[in-house]
Amino acid sequence: MKKFNQPIFVTKPFLPPFEEFCQGLREIWEKQWLTNNGPVLKKYQKELKRYFVTDNICLFTNGTLALQIALQGMGISGEVITTPFTFVATTHALYWNKIRPVFCDIESDTFTIDPDKVEALITPWTTAILAVHVFGRPCKIDALADIAHRHKLTLIYDAAHAFGVQVNGKSIGQYGNISMFSFHATKLYHSIEGGMLIFKDSNLNQIFSYLKNFGFKSETEVVMPGTNAKMNEIQALMGSILLKYIHEIIKKKKKIYNIYKNQLSDIPGLSFSPDPTENIEYNYAYVPILIEKIAFGMSRDELYERLKKYNIFARRYFYPLLTEFACYQNLAVSMSLATAKAVAEQVLTLPTYADLSEHEVCKICDIIREIHINPAGLDR
Ligand SMILES: *Cc1c(COP(=O)(O)O)cnc(C)c1O
Repeated sequence: MKKFNQPIFVTKPFLPPFEEFCQGLREIWEKQWLTNNGPVLKKYQKELKRYFVTDNICLFTNGTLALQIALQGMGISGEVITTPFTFVATTHALYWNKIRPVFCDIESDTFTIDPDKVEALITPWTTAILAVHVFGRPCKIDALADIAHRHKLTLIYDAAHAFGVQVNGKSIGQYGNISMFSFHATKLYHSIEGGMLIFKDSNLNQIFSYLKNFGFKSETEVVMPGTNAKMNEIQALMGSILLKYIHEIIKKKKKIYNIYKNQLSDIPGLSFSPDPTENIEYNYAYVPILIEKIAFGMSRDELYERLKKYNIFARRYFYPLLTEFACYQNLAVSMSLATAKAVAEQVLTLPTYADLSEHEVCKICDIIREIHINPAGLDR
């Protein structure tokens, strides 16, 4: 197989028609209102409330600040049980609130926190569980809700990957006490940069709106030491326009996912997570595969490097494991993270974005098969 002429990256941001965005920009120019709860943000907020069927949402300039503010606004402290198999921002948000992350191992099928292992980690200092719907695969929400209820813990979800995911006919954001969505440009759905909290306790609306705007209550009153985490009008415009395309994006991603799965499933040593159960509507945001060295004929890292020679830039999400990073290396970890470690060593996420053609996906599959068949590889 010949290499791709242009690099194929793991993702590419979805962009709406240029004219549509320009029309929105013109309206912003006419109003000369760029940030601070402007008209586009207010309209966007209404659209999201309708989409998520709740009044309890708050928008932020990015997902990381949204999560930090969630923890702060709910007064989470002490220890929080979380997963090491995630993007660094999940743990950073705890660190910025002076909370100790307690890492729990993950499940081998969904890569999400293993509820059977959570209870062993609960101490008198535990205040919450921070679980991640990693790659948009829902956590074991019933089991986690049960543990949180019995131990009076707050249940927080990092749903950065999970926009559009439904469980039992409800948005995934409806589960737990609070969920954070990231609208970063590299995510399935985005507002260039952006973040959102969706929560059960309506009292939090007021607290979050103070915390994201320096704690201002009025022109002359500051009621808490807030930060600056507001979403601006241009971000809100992008988010609002893309909401019209979300079904189209997911449909395309599903098609891509299924091509990969059909074409690659029979290759020994290459595996996909089991399909989500019937009650789950998945968003197909990512295409993670596991590479088992002996059966596949080479390690995940070797495959990753070989793909680069074909101009295919897959990513090792999430590797290294969070506990390996210099800033978290000294944290005591009381549980074996064997599954998380094994997954981090074997996982590779393949390119997927709405613009990726079926032809290109098939070619990526053919290249992976060729590399597998000929592991010694005469690269050209
Ligand atoms: C992207 C991401 C975040 C951070 O979101 P930003 O909007 O980029 O700040 C947090 N957690 C996970 C799992 C992510 O993938």
